[in-house]
Amino acid sequence: MDEVTVIGAGLGGLSAAIHLRLRGHRVTVFEAGPGVGGRANRLELGGLRFDTGPTLLNYPWVFEELFSAAGRDLHGAVALRRIEPTLSYRWPDGTRLTLSSDLERLREEFEQIEAGAARRLDAFLVDAGEKFRIAFEKLVPRNEDHPLRYFAPLRARELVRCALWRSMYAELRRFFRSRYLVEALGSYAMYLGGSPFELPGLFSILPYGELAHGLWLPRGGIYALIEAIQTLARELGVTIETRCRVERILIEDGRVTGVRLADGRRQASPIVVSNLDLPATLAELVGQPPPPLKMSPSVLTFYWAVANRPEGLGHHTIFLPRDYRAAFDQLNRGARIPAEPAFYVAAAAASDPEVSAPGAWPVFVLVPLPLLSRLGPIDWAEASGRLREFVLRRLRDSGVELDPTKILAERVLTPKDWSERFGLFDGSAFGAAHTLGQMGPFRPRNYSRRVRGLYFSGASTTPGTGLPMVALSGKLVAQRIAAHAR
Ligand SMILES: Cc1cc2nc3c(=O)[nH]c(=O)nc-3n(C[C@H](O)[C@H](O)[C@H](O)COP(=O)(O)OP(=O)(O)OC[C@H]3O[C@@H](n4cnc5c(N)ncnc54)[C@H](O)[C@@H]3O)c2cc1C
Repeated sequence: MDEVTVIGAGLGGLSAAIHLRLRGHRVTVFEAGPGVGGRANRLELGGLRFDTGPTLLNYPWVFEELFSAAGRDLHGAVALRRIEPTLSYRWPDGTRLTLSSDLERLREEFEQIEAGAARRLDAFLVDAGEKFRIAFEKLVPRNEDHPLRYFAPLRARELVRCALWRSMYAELRRFFRSRYLVEALGSYAMYLGGSPFELPGLFSILPYGELAHGLWLPRGGIYALIEAIQTLARELGVTIETRCRVERILIEDGRVTGVRLADGRRQASPIVVSNLDLPATLAELVGQPPPPLKMSPSVLTFYWAVANRPEGLGHHTIFLPRDYRAAFDQLNRGARIPAEPAFYVAAAAASDPEVSAPGAWPVFVLVPLPLLSRLGPIDWAEASGRLREFVLRRLRDSGVELDPTKILAERVLTPKDWSERFGLFDGSAFGAAHTLGQMGPFRPRNYSRRVRGLYFSGASTTPGTGLPMVALSGKLVAQRIAAHAR
């Protein structure tokens, strides 16, 4: 079987490497950073370990399948625990909402916010459950680029059910009247770095997926899952070389011949899978203009080791702004750091005491921001100081006891840091957006039509962004390579 070179050991690269190895290829992964995981990385601070990026894990069966494809058991390698309640929401007017995958609890919570919402929740779950079935049985796990063939397995009523022509926000409004319920469920768009006003209605499967199938966390954090996947890859015989930056994808007569590393070494291989985000691969490693993609926003993240347990904060909380629509508008079209952004806080000790150390609790804050090209030159020290003050003020006003003087150690990753550390194109945290024109058969394909032997895995190709989709992208690219070899 042909030798395959994989560029990048993010989850998309590791998954591709495992699936290709299982198909008999010799696989070498070159990772620029000191360790594997990419955005799903680990950071040590104040005696604590933080997950750098992802903190929310959905669809564990995708990872079960990754392990079982290799004849292994995910649960023998990682202990997954269910996080319950799942997410909490806070608004500046004091309104609170807590989501749960315990249906009775959820119905009560919805009913308190809007009379009759428990019944409407039932209807919503039936509708979104059907969308979810259609998406995962008929659409997501396929390599199909032709729109007609992509949607061909759907019956007419299934196509209608997908609500592709309506926004996710409008779809949610069909079920709920309360702005709080619509805004909370619409915020799941942020799982893809998206806006509920731009994502199609099909994406009501995002809240459904979590409410119906749970929110999970590996014992030891998300990075414990990444480590287990790395171990699996190595045990299968994948070679992973870290601190090896690929500088160029070598191409002769329109065909890949290998890669050149920053240290001058060359690795010959007729197949290269790039896990570096797709537009960055083309711009930086091939020298082609990147496709005109709409990218999801950037993020600024704070990591705080705090001296006391932050009372009044659950594991996962989203703080929403007064003007929800304006906040998403500023994020996607604005050119400034928003004055009142939505943000997310993880205080993992609320459900897992093991993540704290004596006298230190971890708090992670994620603030979505416009793309670097929109923001232009920014004094990031000043901007992160302002955002820090804003976040701490909102926490205090919401009754969270987090005294700034109790922050013992702090790290900040600005969009520029994220971009430089992981090669994120324009600082985009989640890669290509999931607008109608960039999903399904319209999303950038997992192979190059201009360069034979060049393939892609990861957030900006099919099927999409987020840990489960990126893991699936590795499986899809391996299937694609096998199909091309036939
Ligand atoms: C702050 C943040 C929070 C998130 N939260 C969640 C969440 O809660 N749940 C969820 O499911 N998803 C979340 N996501 C999205 C998720 O992290 C991504 O979709 C996923 O990790 C992307 O994986 P990937 O394999 O496509 O790319 P990456 O993780 O970006 O991996 C690419 C790898 O390529 C390496 N590389 C780059 N250039 C080179 C080069 N020239 N040579 C060699 N190697 C190179 C990089 O170092 C990196 O390791 C979050 C993302 C961010 C940024």
